[in-house]
Amino acid sequence: MDLDFTAEDDEFRQRARDWLAAHVPVTPLPSLETEEGFAAHREWERRLAADRWSVVAWPEEYGGQGVDIVKWLVFEEEYYAAGAPGRVSQNGISLLAPTLFDFGTAEQRARILPSMATGEVIWAQAWSEPESGSDLASLRATARRTDGGWLLSGQKTWSSRAAFADRAFGLFRSEPRETGLQTGSEADSGGGSVAGAGSGSGGGSGTVRKPHQGLTYLMFPLDADGVTVRPVGRLDGKPAFAELFLDDVFVPDEDVIGEPGQGWRIAMSTTGNERGLMLRSPGRFLASAERLARRWRAHGDPSDTALRDRVADAVIGARAYALFTWANASRFAAGERIGAESSLNKVFWSEYDIALHETALDLLGADGELIGGATTEADLAEADALEAEGDYVADGVGRMDGGRWGDGGDWMEGYVFSLAGPIYAGTNEIQRDIIAERLLGLPKGRR
Ligand SMILES: Cc1cc2nc3c(=O)[nH]c(=O)nc-3n(C[C@H](O)[C@H](O)[C@H](O)COP(=O)(O)OP(=O)(O)OC[C@H]3O[C@@H](n4cnc5c(N)ncnc54)[C@H](O)[C@@H]3O)c2cc1C
Repeated sequence: MDLDFTAEDDEFRQRARDWLAAHVPVTPLPSLETEEGFAAHREWERRLAADRWSVVAWPEEYGGQGVDIVKWLVFEEEYYAAGAPGRVSQNGISLLAPTLFDFGTAEQRARILPSMATGEVIWAQAWSEPESGSDLASLRATARRTDGGWLLSGQKTWSSRAAFADRAFGLFRSEPRETGLQTGSEADSGGGSVAGAGSGSGGGSGTVRKPHQGLTYLMFPLDADGVTVRPVGRLDGKPAFAELFLDDVFVPDEDVIGEPGQGWRIAMSTTGNERGLMLRSPGRFLASAERLARRWRAHGDPSDTALRDRVADAVIGARAYALFTWANASRFAAGERIGAESSLNKVFWSEYDIALHETALDLLGADGELIGGATTEADLAEADALEAEGDYVADGVGRMDGGRWGDGGDWMEGYVFSLAGPIYAGTNEIQRDIIAERLLGLPKGRR
């Protein structure tokens, strides 16, 4: 592995840095989990795309710069170091797009990717259901064949930013679990618990498909007839999470990804992206750790060596994750795929993120209790005044998402969100099972 950057990488880094320095909004955008913030972040996506910075690794024909994974990681480092806004189109860019590159048709890529790159169409992930999260294969929402397409029915939940997004992608049961029986409805045939179910165990006259068989991967508009989007409250009070109710929603054949019935295999390629490189690039943690270290230097109590060690651990952890990611990127660039190792990434960054934020909150003391950020002009003026008095360190704070009540609001908001890290993108308990079974070769646990 060669850890040196090429002259071309350095030139790319400089170009990215210059562009970001000239364009990152000085006043923070409102949180992308609110309606107003969602619109502001959509506009930011459009600005990024206008100069081809929204999807640097994509081919030029879809709005990218066609750069390799090394330059993508370089861009991410620069992006977070510049305190640039969160990416409201992340679900589309990091989950749906890689799936379309692998399994979509040329027509789908040409139709869908350019408007994703500009933020004109923002995508939500509609996988989870009320009783199918970790055990995703037990999902019950259905896709029924009709003339020229499919009719979707059922309920999806925990769909990030679906309250404001334009379209969604998800898995639907297109073939009933049980075959050869004349009961008509497949919905309850699994009897509730289907994890690890084998085939042919129905005890009746028919056969029972394994849960992951007969699923189809489809895309649908969130404003279509038959779709009800209902926001779900979150711990931080933001309204963007939603549950979706689908009642015979028509989807044309052209919006099926891959072959009908092959959805599970396709979806599993997406989960690798989500847990692996794409969702949490090291640039994000390097920038946060650097911000924490700056605050320690400015405000830390040198006699508190325990806290000093935790700050040092945060910096070391971010750098270790970066090196681990560079190693994976080298493998990726050499044509290898990241398989079960993506579970290692996921457990690491999600637990690291919580520890980082806990350390920041302990360092901030009472200031860390502030939440919500200051987003009105009056709040910003007050924050500026406090900064001018030296109460807060002006270390790029003003550019963080979620407002600029000194440093505290950002860290508290970040902490609350970090608590969800071990849950989304596959819970850490499930990732540890994968690591145990597939990487360490330990016997399968009881399900
Ligand atoms: C912030 C956030 C954003 C999300 N965004 C989206 C989104 O955009 N789209 C989407 O579709 N979903 C989304 N989700 C949902 C997420 O994927 C699920 O919450 C997750 O898969 C867990 O499913 P569940 O909530 O049903 O919990 P369950 O699966 O019911 O799990 C409950 C607990 O039991 C444990 N458990 C379950 N099975 C096992 C097992 N076999 N072995 C050991 N432990 C087990 C779990 O680890 C967990 O601790 C999001 C979740 C969060 C928190």
